[in-house]
Amino acid sequence: MVADKHTSEEKHEEKHDVLKATQVVIHRALEKLGYPEEVYELLKEPIRMLTVKIPVRMDDGTVKIFTGYRAQHNDAVGPTKGGIRFHPSVTEREVKALSIWMSLKCGIVDLPYGGGKGGIVCDPRNMSFRELERLSRGYVRAISQIVGPTKDIPAPDVFTNSQIMAWMMDEYSRIDEFNSPGFITGKPLVLGGSHGRETATAKGVTICIREAAKKRGIDLEGARVVVQGFGNAGSFLAKFMHDAGAKVIGISDAYGALYDPNGLDIDYLLDRRDSFGTVTKLFKNTITNKELLELECDILVPAAIENQITEENAHNIKAKIVVEAANGPTTLEATEILTKRGILIVPDVLASAGGVTVSYFEWVQNNQGYYWTEEEVEEKLEKVMVKAFNNVYETAQTRRVDMRLAAYMVGVRKMAEACRFRGWI
Ligand code: NAD
Repeated sequence: MVADKHTSEEKHEEKHDVLKATQVVIHRALEKLGYPEEVYELLKEPIRMLTVKIPVRMDDGTVKIFTGYRAQHNDAVGPTKGGIRFHPSVTEREVKALSIWMSLKCGIVDLPYGGGKGGIVCDPRNMSFRELERLSRGYVRAISQIVGPTKDIPAPDVFTNSQIMAWMMDEYSRIDEFNSPGFITGKPLVLGGSHGRETATAKGVTICIREAAKKRGIDLEGARVVVQGFGNAGSFLAKFMHDAGAKVIGISDAYGALYDPNGLDIDYLLDRRDSFGTVTKLFKNTITNKELLELECDILVPAAIENQITEENAHNIKAKIVVEAANGPTTLEATEILTKRGILIVPDVLASAGGVTVSYFEWVQNNQGYYWTEEEVEEKLEKVMVKAFNNVYETAQTRRVDMRLAAYMVGVRKMAEACRFRGWI
C-alpha cells in the first residue's frame, strides 16, 4: 500500500516537474523568436548551481545537518537576483526552475539583472527563533563565495522575511568586513530596506489585475475575488483588492480556506494571521484549498505554491481571469485548458514581478546611499508594471500566442541578446 502510494506520488511529481515545464516554454519562446538551438542549450539550466550542507546546533544540543541550494541562472545582463525559500519540499529542480523564472521576470520588467534563487530544505514553522538565526547565518557562510552586491543578490521568498534578511546581511557584512546593505534586499527599513518592499509583490499583482480587468471589461468595484495563500503576496493582495472595492470571497493558507459569498473581513484576517501566513486554524467553518480554487468568482489569484491548477481541476475553474501571484501555480496542460476556455491568464513571471522590481529599487538606494519616499517607490513601480503588462499583452495579440508564451518571449529576449553581444553564443 505504502509502496504504491509512493509510486503514484513520484509519478505526480514527475508529471508536474516545474523545471521541465519551464524548459518547454523557453524552447517554444526561443523558437518563435528565431534563435538557434544552442541558445536553448545555454538557457535551459542555470550556469551555476551550488549545493551546501549546513550544520546547525539545535536548542536541545543536537546538531542537525540541513541541505541548501543557490542557483544562478544567467548573468549576461548583470548580477543574478532572487529570493531564498525555507520549505520542507524545496528540491534542486525547483530552485533551478525558480532561478529561470527570476531571469524571465527581470527581462519582462527590464531590470539590469539575471535570475538567481536559493532554498533550504527545512520547516521554519517547527524551529525556534535562535535555530532560524543559526540556519540563516550558516547558509550565508556556505554560499558566501558566489554571492555579493555585484554578483548575486538574495531576497525573501516563501517562509523567509525581513528578520531573516537582516541576519543574512549581518553575516555577510562580517565576512566581507564592510557594512554591505546591497548584499540582500527585503531588509527592515532601519537596515536599508526600501519603503514599499513588503507590499511590492501584491502591489504589482494589483496593477496587473486592474489592467487585465480593463481588457476583459470587468469592473473591480464589486468583483468577486478569490486568493489562495495568505502570506506576504496573498494577504496584502486581498487587502488591496478589498480597498479597491472588490469583494474578497475566499482566502486560504496551508491548512484550509475561508469562504463568505458576502465578502470576508480582510482587515480582521490580516490582523489575526501569523508570520507564516496562517489564519484559517482560528475558524471552525473552513473549506479545502481544492474547493477554494473552484469557487464561482471573477478573479482567481493563486498566491501560495506550485502546481495548484492542473489538468485535474482546470475544467472546474470558474474565474474569468487567473492572475498568478505565486510562482508556477498552473501547469502547462492547465494553461492550455484555461486558454481554450477563454480565461485570461496573467502569468507568474509578469504578475509577481513587482517584488523584484522594488528589490531592485532597494539595491539602487543602497548603492547610492540615498533613500526614496513611499510615493516615489509606488510611482516608479506603477510605471514599470503597466509598461510590462502592456508589452506582454500586445505580444500575445500580435504573435497570436497565449500570455505565458508571450511573457517568456519578452523575458528571454534581453538575456539572449546579452549573451550574443558578450560573444557567448
Ligand atoms: P509566504 O511564506 O509569506 O506565504 C505563503 C502562503 O502560502 C501562506 O499563507 C501559507 O500558509 C500558504 N501555503 C503554503 N503551503 C501551502 C499549500 N500546500 N497549500 C495552500 N497554501 C499554502 O510566501 P509569499 O512570499 O507570500 O509567497 C507566495 C508565493 O508568491 C510563492 O510562490 C512565491 O514564490 C511567490 N512570490 C513571492 C514574492 C514575494 O516578494 N514575497 C515575490 C514573487 C513571487
